[in-house]
Amino acid sequence: MISVDEARKLVLDSKFKCKIGKLPILDCLGRVLVEDIPASEDIPIYDNSAMDGYAVIANDVKGSDANYPVRLIVSGGSIPAGKTSKIKIDPGFCIPIMTGGAMPNGADSVVMKENVQRDGKSLLIFREVKKGENVRYKGEDIKKGEVILRKSDIINSAVVGMLASLGESKVKVFKPPVVGVIATGDELLETGERLKTGMVRDSNSYSLSAQILETGAKYHRYGIVRDDEKILKDNIEIALKENDILLLSGGISVGDFDFVKDTIENIGAELVFWRVNQKPGKPMAFFKYGKKFIFGLPGNPVSVMVCFEVYVRPLIKKMMGFNDLFRPVVSAEALQDFKNRKGRTNFARVILENKEGKYFFSSTGMQGSGMLTSMVKANGLAVLPSKMGDVKKGSEIEAYIIGSF
Ligand code: AMP
Ligand code: MG
Repeated sequence: MISVDEARKLVLDSKFKCKIGKLPILDCLGRVLVEDIPASEDIPIYDNSAMDGYAVIANDVKGSDANYPVRLIVSGGSIPAGKTSKIKIDPGFCIPIMTGGAMPNGADSVVMKENVQRDGKSLLIFREVKKGENVRYKGEDIKKGEVILRKSDIINSAVVGMLASLGESKVKVFKPPVVGVIATGDELLETGERLKTGMVRDSNSYSLSAQILETGAKYHRYGIVRDDEKILKDNIEIALKENDILLLSGGISVGDFDFVKDTIENIGAELVFWRVNQKPGKPMAFFKYGKKFIFGLPGNPVSVMVCFEVYVRPLIKKMMGFNDLFRPVVSAEALQDFKNRKGRTNFARVILENKEGKYFFSSTGMQGSGMLTSMVKANGLAVLPSKMGDVKKGSEIEAYIIGSF
């Protein structure tokens, strides 16, 4: 049986070619840029006013204040945003200008409207301005040729705005993989069906699809497939045609009706590993099939979600071009004892708290791998290290932040 670190390395060392597409910028939110985007022009492209007020020569209003205002002559009509004026400002003159209006020749600064009093052609100014005050200079945000947006940057709302400002209506991004989900098990019911003894509703195909959605990838939920080799084979073959990654839940252990591993191998997939020294999720398997990946995940609802967190999510992130593949990791102190068998990594579902800058964690309660409540209450996964054995209260170990505080 291999360790968590070995298994994760095998998954993440997988070779694949990221898919690339050129998409409208709003469809790129949350995706990663494929290439640098140099600015094709200066932004802004002209000197303009940052305020509603009057364009002046700073030297003219030097020393003016509430007691000794300076008087200037208004030499023309207002310059609105986006407009220029042919009027040249000579010493002793000024012109009304609005935010975004082009600075007229001669003027070098803008007095805010709040600091003046207008009387026809005459303007009293009650505050001096420094040369350049309230002026936005050509190229001050971005210089032509400058690279603000780089390859591997994640496209957030500000980046979308910046792309628009640079005139880029479409950009090249890494396209997310399409991930298929099949839940296997004779005991599984659809969400709308009544529970009977021996039966459980399929939650895995939903929790996995939601986890896929959270990464920004596309999911394809196939629903329930019975524990029957022929039906399983047919469904896997269809799903492999339609997806880059295929996730199966259940049927991967050593039970009499666990056909998933053999079925996947029989269709010609390469088994990279089966069984990992971890709790929950020991029976998981990872396969390669041409350029595609298949995860045989255990059926227990917690195992399936933890395996997704530890192995599938980072692989999807990698395929989407992200540099940072993992959840934020913090060092946190145990507020209670945790049982842990030496030699096996245990992903405990925990409640993480931050008190005065230090992280602490406590158990979400019963930790059975079938108990989805342990996952619902968790905002952290504490990694009880295989070397450590029992984790005593007060010990400091690593925890992934998987939810909010
Ligand atoms: P298996 O790995 O198929 O032996 O399943 C292990 C446990 O997980 C069994 O108790 C199953 O009933 C349960 N289980 C399997 N698949 C699902 C599913 N899709 N949703 C909820 N529970 C499941
Ligand atoms: Mg089963």
